[in-house]
Amino acid sequence: MIKLFRISVICGLAALALPSAASAQSCAVGPAAVQILGSGGPALNRERASASYLLWLDGRARMLVDMGGGTYLRFAQSGAKLADLALVGISHLHPDHVSDLAALLWLSRQMRTEPLPIVGPSGNEVAPDFPTFLARLFDEKNGAFQVLGASLGASRGNGVRLDVSVVDVAKAEPSVVFKGPDLTVTAFGIPHANMPALAYRVETPAGSVVFSSDQNGTNPKFVDFARNANVLIMHLAIAAGATSPLHAAPAVVGRIAREAGVGRLIVSHIGLFDLEAAISELKQSYAGPLTVGADLQCTPVAR
Ligand SMILES: [Zn+2]
Ligand SMILES: [Zn+2]
Repeated sequence: MIKLFRISVICGLAALALPSAASAQSCAVGPAAVQILGSGGPALNRERASASYLLWLDGRARMLVDMGGGTYLRFAQSGAKLADLALVGISHLHPDHVSDLAALLWLSRQMRTEPLPIVGPSGNEVAPDFPTFLARLFDEKNGAFQVLGASLGASRGNGVRLDVSVVDVAKAEPSVVFKGPDLTVTAFGIPHANMPALAYRVETPAGSVVFSSDQNGTNPKFVDFARNANVLIMHLAIAAGATSPLHAAPAVVGRIAREAGVGRLIVSHIGLFDLEAAISELKQSYAGPLTVGADLQCTPVAR
C-alpha cells in the first residue's frame, strides 16, 4: 500500500510538472518577438491549447491575438501582464479563437486600470458583429456574464473597461486599428467559409508580423497584406491532400508564404493529422525558413 501510494504521488508530480516545464520559455527578450499561447485548433489536444498569440516588444506583451480555450492558462504561464497590452485583436467568433476571453476579463480590474482596446470583425447571418457579441456576453442587464458588466461601462461589477472597435470584413483595403509609438496594427478581411474573419498585421520598429488566422487562402489580396512580413503565422488546419471551404491546404499555405516573400513562416492551429505529411506537402511550394508552432514557443522578430 505504501509503495503504491508513493508511486502515485511521484507520477502525479511528474504529470503536473511536465507540460509547463517542457515547453515554457520566456519571450521577454530582444526588441520584438512573437509567442504562441495556443498552437492547436478546435479538437481536444493534450499538448496544444486553441489559438492565441502574443507580440512582445522590449520585454512587454503588447498585443494579444485571439483567446481560444486553454490560453487563459498559457497567458499566465507566459508571464505576460494584462496591464502591458496595447491591443487585443480577435480574428473571428469561432470558440477556438475567443472562448477564454471572459476568463481573461474576470477580475481584470485588479490587474489593469486603463481601458483595454479590443477589436473584432463585423457580423453576418452566422455570427453577430463584435460589439453585439460582447453585449450578449457582458451586458449588465441581459448578458450571460452580467458580473462583467463593467467591461462595457456599467458602474458595478468586475472587469476592465473595454474600448471596442469593429472592422468591416468586406472592406477592400486594410484598416488601421491601432497606432502607437511602438506598433501600428492593420486588419483585413479573410475568407473563412461564411464566418466573418480578420487577419492582423503589426508593424514595429524591429520588424513586422502577420497573423493570418483561419482562412481558405482564396483571396489573392491577402498575399499583398502579408507582403515582406518578417514573420507570417499561418494555420495548418487540414491534412495533406485535404480541401475545405474553411481552411487552406498545406500546399496553399506554402504558396502564400512564398508569394508574399516573408522572412519566416510559422505554422500553427495544428490539427490531429499526419503532421509530417502536411509539412512535406507545404515544402513543395515553400522552401524558406519554417517553424512548426508549439504552445509557449517564442520566435524573435527581426528585419
Ligand atoms: Zn480555428
Ligand atoms: Zn475558425
